[in-house]
Amino acid sequence: MDFSWTTEQELWRKTVREFAQKKIKPKVREIDTNKKIPEEIIKEMGRLGLLAPTVSSEYGGADLDWTMAAIAAEEIGRADISLAIPVLYLVESSWGFILDRYGTKEVKEEFLPKITKGEAFCGIAVTEPEGGSDILGAGKTKAEKKSKNWVLNGEKIFISGVKESSKWGGIHLTLVRTDPKAGHKGFSFFAVPLKNNKNIETTLFEDMGRMGISTGGFTMNNLELSQEYMIGEENRGFYYTMEGFSAARMLIGATCVGASETALELGIEHIKNRKAFGRAIGSFEGIQFPLAEHYTNIESVKLLTYKAAWIMDKKYKEGKFSHKDISLAAAMSKLRAPVYGFQLMNDVADWFGAIGYTKEYPIEMGIRGIRSYSIGAEGTMNVMKIIIGRELLGKDFLPYK
Ligand SMILES: Cc1cc2nc3c(=O)[nH]c(=O)nc-3n(C[C@H](O)[C@H](O)[C@H](O)COP(=O)(O)OP(=O)(O)OC[C@H]3O[C@@H](n4cnc5c(N)ncnc54)[C@H](O)[C@@H]3O)c2cc1C
Repeated sequence: MDFSWTTEQELWRKTVREFAQKKIKPKVREIDTNKKIPEEIIKEMGRLGLLAPTVSSEYGGADLDWTMAAIAAEEIGRADISLAIPVLYLVESSWGFILDRYGTKEVKEEFLPKITKGEAFCGIAVTEPEGGSDILGAGKTKAEKKSKNWVLNGEKIFISGVKESSKWGGIHLTLVRTDPKAGHKGFSFFAVPLKNNKNIETTLFEDMGRMGISTGGFTMNNLELSQEYMIGEENRGFYYTMEGFSAARMLIGATCVGASETALELGIEHIKNRKAFGRAIGSFEGIQFPLAEHYTNIESVKLLTYKAAWIMDKKYKEGKFSHKDISLAAAMSKLRAPVYGFQLMNDVADWFGAIGYTKEYPIEMGIRGIRSYSIGAEGTMNVMKIIIGRELLGKDFLPYK
């Protein structure tokens, strides 16, 4: 066991922290109000290797491993408590990785260099109007082979980055049925470009938080794509989706840890200085004991999250561990991180008293942002429990079959 960071990891954290604290943190309120991440921040992230950072250098990526990617996620979360830039970071990291790993040379050449520079978006489209948790049962979107091409029809909904992808260009890796009789072995994954596409209609939602990045939906009406746009092998889309979700869930853990650390620092500063009944409110058990609980909770999530990143590095670099090990570790991180983070932020708002309910302090942006992850982005809390239960009990005990 060794809990220390390497010199390279420490240097990377310092580099990302300096950039994020200087360039991102002062802009977070503006991003939340204007509902847009400034272009100069995206471009600077690209220059620093912070867009889809695990992508190979051949396609403009930084060749980072998952521990390094998690360190950056924590630092970006620490700077942007609203979680808008962290969402952009983690979605592109996870799905850029899947595109790099399984995409065709043609599609990788077309999109990855732009994604890593901040000139195109890379997202994920799984959820449909009939349901997200039960996409394998409820999913209606399909692709049919028509001579050499695939024709896609159906609707995807509650999808991060629809506005960005429609504006900048880029792709959403989209899960569709290609063999309706084959259950989870009948889904394939396609790279779907949303910009200027007459066969795609997009919609947008007004979210409660993480306002800098959009959530929307898109309908594909006889969208024709050539074979190159299929990611990996036909009918293996479900497996690629699960692999990408595990990466995203681990990074969610890291971003929630970062945002929670900021909230905790704000809270500690305040309870040491704010006085009531003749003493600092931090002296009261009613404040100090929750502080101790929250600090312990966040430390425990941090350990779970970096353990998940470590397992991923062992798997991808050395072939040790399995996808099931990654999926279990990432699900545990995702199960705890947004809930502990939300509880902490909620208490910190209480510690601030009335000002905690205003936009004078960033805590309300944190509460609105972090809630997206416990409500369901990248899988609901109950779905995390189903994954953990499946790994502990085996497939015979699945609640669906
Ligand atoms: C801000 C935001 C961004 C998102 N971005 C994306 C994106 O980029 N791409 C994408 O594909 N999706 C995205 N999603 C959608 C997300 O993946 C889904 O919301 C999630 O999978 C849940 O699906 P649902 O909303 O249809 O809820 P449902 O699946 O209908 O679930 C409703 C409730 O029932 C519970 N439930 C369902 N089945 C069970 C069960 N067997 N046991 C116990 N409880 C159960 C769920 O836990 C949940 O509480 C996003 C969601 C949000 C909130």
